[in-house]
Amino acid sequence: MQPTALVWFRQDLRLADNPALLAAVESGAHIVPVYIWSPDEEGGWAPGAASRWWLHRSLQALDASLRERGSQLLLRHGPAQATLLQLARETGSSTLYFNRRYEPAAQAVENSLRDALPGAGVAVHSSQSALLREPWELRTGGGGPYQVFTPFWRSFLRDLVVAAPKASPQVWSSPRQWPASLSLDALQLLPRLPWHESLAAHWTPGEVAARERLLQFGRDGLAGYPEARDLPGIDGTSRLSAHLHYGEVSPRQVWAAIGKASQRNGDSSWREGRYVAELVWREYAAHVLHHFPQLPERPKNLAFERMAWRDDAQALRAWQQGRTGIALVDAGMRELWQTGFMHNRVRMIAASLLVKNLLLPWQEGQRWFWDTLVDADLASNALGWQWVAGTGPDAAPFFRIFNPDTQAQKFDAAGDYRRRWLPGGTVASAMAPIVDLKLSRQRALDAHLALRQSATS
Ligand SMILES: Cc1cc2nc3c(=O)[nH]c(=O)nc-3n(C[C@H](O)[C@H](O)[C@H](O)COP(=O)(O)OP(=O)(O)OC[C@H]3O[C@@H](n4cnc5c(N)ncnc54)[C@H](O)[C@@H]3O)c2cc1C
Repeated sequence: MQPTALVWFRQDLRLADNPALLAAVESGAHIVPVYIWSPDEEGGWAPGAASRWWLHRSLQALDASLRERGSQLLLRHGPAQATLLQLARETGSSTLYFNRRYEPAAQAVENSLRDALPGAGVAVHSSQSALLREPWELRTGGGGPYQVFTPFWRSFLRDLVVAAPKASPQVWSSPRQWPASLSLDALQLLPRLPWHESLAAHWTPGEVAARERLLQFGRDGLAGYPEARDLPGIDGTSRLSAHLHYGEVSPRQVWAAIGKASQRNGDSSWREGRYVAELVWREYAAHVLHHFPQLPERPKNLAFERMAWRDDAQALRAWQQGRTGIALVDAGMRELWQTGFMHNRVRMIAASLLVKNLLLPWQEGQRWFWDTLVDADLASNALGWQWVAGTGPDAAPFFRIFNPDTQAQKFDAAGDYRRRWLPGGTVASAMAPIVDLKLSRQRALDAHLALRQSATS
């Protein structure tokens, strides 16, 4: 009798280059694809509102691709282990295939599955797909985790072999009878108020759109990326982060497409180039989170737990709503609200204003980004915030405080970015700033000095 296998989709919402799906198809089993919505198993980091919108659309796209192959995506809601066991019983499945995730809570769920399922007659088969290297693979000469990016990057590239991505399987067998599935709407991923319609004007989630974006960037964006990536007023970056987060495209596919496009451009040193370095930042974030699982909650440099952060709900709200009166920051926060995205340089500047000039805890900003970014990713978000706050591994030192006005002159000289996002299409804010940049800079430096003195006294 032909066996039946469950393929558990998670942050790998694609058919091409999907090792779990491929292994299941190659086993010759009837395939039961399933997505389980288990927000209570994310360690307090259930996807935020913008990310849930993306997920809704991405699940829709994945189901459509599966249906083109005579299959479909089952949807369930509940704790992963109990849901998978129940589904295995319903379908008579003897194997579970999935691609690994690396957030601490997701790893805990996977570990408990590996313990519990075999005893119930379900073999567990997991694969690597979300990263080019496992987060535990690289160690420093001393045997510990890396805490500085550049040596991690060097070591990452050394002896790196990236397998060629595999095409999507075209045919496989499905069970004769499909078990029950929830409707996508029953997962209630979409917000009640229709603010997400503005996101739909900017993004098309799903594997097909991800592939198109990757090819387009390789063709039109890659050659100019090293200079263009810092200019928020132009479309100079790949905008693949949300597609990568949800695994609509694999890093192996990105690697292969970038390699091919670079060769066409006559660039033989692309492996050491800027774009690959950014992909390695993504891997570094996963490495750091794996070794320091409290990264989203606690400063890596624990001395900062005693920092005299302020408590100012009004200032926090003004920052969230893009009403600080600081033009570049307000433009960024408005881009974030309207599109679920903010340019990387502006993320750094907006984060610096919150943590340093407003002296508010970085965790507050991290939470806001978590809820509003379509590319919200536990590892990259936590690392990004701790980097700007000066509290993380290999962070910008606390005393390096961005001046948003100077940054605007340098990176948005013609004002295109500010004009696009500020009300009235102006380059300057119509509001008076809620902080004096010079005085608040000094206040931050004083708070930091006090912290250092208390540490040494
Ligand atoms: C405070 C702060 C918070 C951030 N939060 C997130 C987040 O939640 N999710 C997220 O994916 N990125 C986050 N980043 C990193 C970065 O801003 C985004 O990855 C990038 O802006 C996405 O745009 P892109 O796809 O056009 O990037 P590109 O410039 O085209 O880069 C290509 C890919 O490399 C990866 N990458 C680039 N920069 C970084 C970085 N600094 N750290 C990790 N990976 C990187 C992304 O996967 C990106 O898609 C954050 C940065 C800061 C400063």
